[in-house]
Amino acid sequence: MSDVVLEGTALTKRFGGLVAVSEVHVAVQRGEILGLIGPNGAGKSTLFRLIAGIMKPTAGRVAFRGRDITNRPAHDVVVAGVAATHQIVRPFREMSVLENVMVGAFFGHRPRPRGVHRAREAAMEALTVCDLADRAASPARALTLGGQKWLEVARALATRPEVLLLDEVLAGLNPTETDRTLELIRAINERGTTIVIVEHNLRAVRGLCSRIVALVQGRKVVEGAPEAVLADERVVTAYLGP
Ligand code: ADP
Ligand code: MG
Repeated sequence: MSDVVLEGTALTKRFGGLVAVSEVHVAVQRGEILGLIGPNGAGKSTLFRLIAGIMKPTAGRVAFRGRDITNRPAHDVVVAGVAATHQIVRPFREMSVLENVMVGAFFGHRPRPRGVHRAREAAMEALTVCDLADRAASPARALTLGGQKWLEVARALATRPEVLLLDEVLAGLNPTETDRTLELIRAINERGTTIVIVEHNLRAVRGLCSRIVALVQGRKVVEGAPEAVLADERVVTAYLGP
């Protein structure tokens, strides 16, 4: 039996004349932390949006637990069990931290929470995992950048996803916040959530990911164990230049 939980097949995304993602196959294994790396403009965020169901491919298919979800609306994909955070965090600034996460609990949830009480429970559970339970009543705008990123993670987690996709959650964080976020991601994974992380910080992915896929100019150039991918000549050249 295949242990692939989320799979993109021959995914291509064009923006006018630009091919941002070209014929990429990516298979996310149940329980893993898969890293998606590549230099700026390589197509990481676009591939991320395609497999998260946020953006529709020009060609190719996306399947979740063997079911085709390519043309399902983004909201259905969340309900099915795939949740994503975004590179740019956009909390509802005037709403409380708890209310922000309750939006996640209502928006996509399996099984759907019955009423405010259940949504509040799911939200508090996610906040506890993300170390934000004591900030539940604060307005979102009062959080540090690190706190806002964890809030974004909590919001996605409150949908109880099977696969959590994270786009550059470490960007802009100081070393302490980075370490704390890496611990948080490991803890979420250990609780049984499969994780796909787009990351620019190669040192971080080396220690975190079980497997890495490297993109260069919209194409997958190599995938495998972190040490091997990060030492691959095509990856080194893409990051450092020839
Ligand atoms: P990465 O996340 O690896 O930096 P992106 O997926 O954001 O790369 O972008 C890949 C390429 O697609 C870039 O050349 C970018 O300018 C282009 N691109 C991304 N999103 C859009 C869009 N919505 N419209 C037009 N071009 C886009
Ligand atoms: Mg990006």
